[in-house]
Amino acid sequence: MSRSRVKILIAGAGLSGLSAAFHLGQREYRIVDREARPGGLCRTERVGDYLFDYGGHLLHLRADSVRGLVRELLGGRLLEMDRRSSIYSHGVFTRYPFQVNTYGLPEEVVLECLDGIRKARAEAAGAPEPSDFESWVLYHFGPGFARHFFFPFNRKFFKMNLREMDTEWAQWSIPRPTLAEAEAGATAVSAKAFGYNARFFYPKGGIEELPKALTAGLSRPVETGVEVVGLDPAERLALLSTGEEVKYGRMISSLPLRELLRRCRNLPEELAPGRDLDCLSVRCRNLGLEGQATTTDQHWIYFPEERFPFHRVGVYSNIHPIGPDLVSLYLETTFRGAGVIDVISSSDPELDGLRSTPLWSESGRLVSSSVMNIDYGYVVYDERRRRLLPRALTWLAGCGVECVGRYGRWEYAAMEDALIQGREAAERITGGRA
Ligand SMILES: Cc1cc2nc3c(=O)[nH]c(=O)nc-3n(C[C@H](O)[C@H](O)[C@H](O)COP(=O)(O)OP(=O)(O)OC[C@H]3O[C@@H](n4cnc5c(N)ncnc54)[C@H](O)[C@@H]3O)c2cc1C
Repeated sequence: MSRSRVKILIAGAGLSGLSAAFHLGQREYRIVDREARPGGLCRTERVGDYLFDYGGHLLHLRADSVRGLVRELLGGRLLEMDRRSSIYSHGVFTRYPFQVNTYGLPEEVVLECLDGIRKARAEAAGAPEPSDFESWVLYHFGPGFARHFFFPFNRKFFKMNLREMDTEWAQWSIPRPTLAEAEAGATAVSAKAFGYNARFFYPKGGIEELPKALTAGLSRPVETGVEVVGLDPAERLALLSTGEEVKYGRMISSLPLRELLRRCRNLPEELAPGRDLDCLSVRCRNLGLEGQATTTDQHWIYFPEERFPFHRVGVYSNIHPIGPDLVSLYLETTFRGAGVIDVISSSDPELDGLRSTPLWSESGRLVSSSVMNIDYGYVVYDERRRRLLPRALTWLAGCGVECVGRYGRWEYAAMEDALIQGREAAERITGGRA
């Protein structure tokens, strides 16, 4: 076994690890990733003429500093556009978000939603906000919106009892309109853009252009195909799949937290359940089509109803056209747990589901069909996470390990957060002089 020393070991070269390395500049560090190329979830695969990301990856940039960095890295290759997103339910498309766009739904559905939200808002006045997701939805939107969108969509997506789920993620991601806005949305398509994702950026060539540009700006190469297989946090030792043992001063880790805890020697007993933190994995069915394959101009569409196996269909070629009459789209389905995705082989419920929607046109021709399985897709905000996360992160920080990124910190975080957290970790380690 060979031994080496490094001041800073960056484990994982997704956006958060790359951002940390980028902001460390000329300082001494090593960055390793077990995959064959950097980028993590922000990679793009080419299948013939078609480009597919690992699920829709659109940049919602709120911080000026990140916007500036991304513009500097991608320059004229950055596309910017307003969201075109809808929901397909009750046999009609309505605009996203549902709670301000009931216009177009069957009248009885609209009335039930409005009646429910009026009562909910009257009852909520002065009452404390509930902490579980199911009660939170009823508190803010009432039983009509719950029955026609929030409950079916979120049960289908999270595959868990919504009463056992925290609301931390919903606080920033689900827009809560005023009663007047919800009422106005029943009589006309809402002109106001609601939500954090109303406008977005996307690089020409696919989302991987962003990690590629970051990688090009590093002072050291990313060591790919190198896995962190063991960790002794107390001794600050990492064991790599090459057989090398690295003594580090500080570590910046974007490994999924539960993977990191599984690799830790001498983990305190009270943190052992952290090795089983819960998450959803995601299956993306990617389709390449030719001809007038779809009439939709939407970027993505949600499917709350159980009769469709997928919860979302996205059309990459409506964001980044790849050629005349070429359509690339993905069907996204979640599974509970990591690495437990069935490969559907004997029947094709996804394609059958798509064919049964107005998105499908018989004048199109299916050219390619491929699958991407994402082991770590969405973090589950349950009691175990609430209990263990702060303690695990504090213990690791005490051992010199800065956890960053969506799975490193086990949270529902976006690409912008990954870029910020990587930079902040670099700044903490260098005393703000990164
Ligand atoms: C389906 C889906 C859609 C999304 N859509 C959006 C969106 O539209 N907009 C948005 O802003 N965000 C989106 N996100 C979130 C976004 O992908 C993440 O926030 C971001 O990419 C996380 O970057 P990261 O560096 O933290 O993690 P990752 O990209 O997961 O990077 C972690 C890296 O660690 C490496 N690694 C793991 N284990 C080891 C090991 N033992 N040794 C060495 N290396 C290891 C991995 O190979 C990987 O490269 C989406 C996520 C998913 C799953």
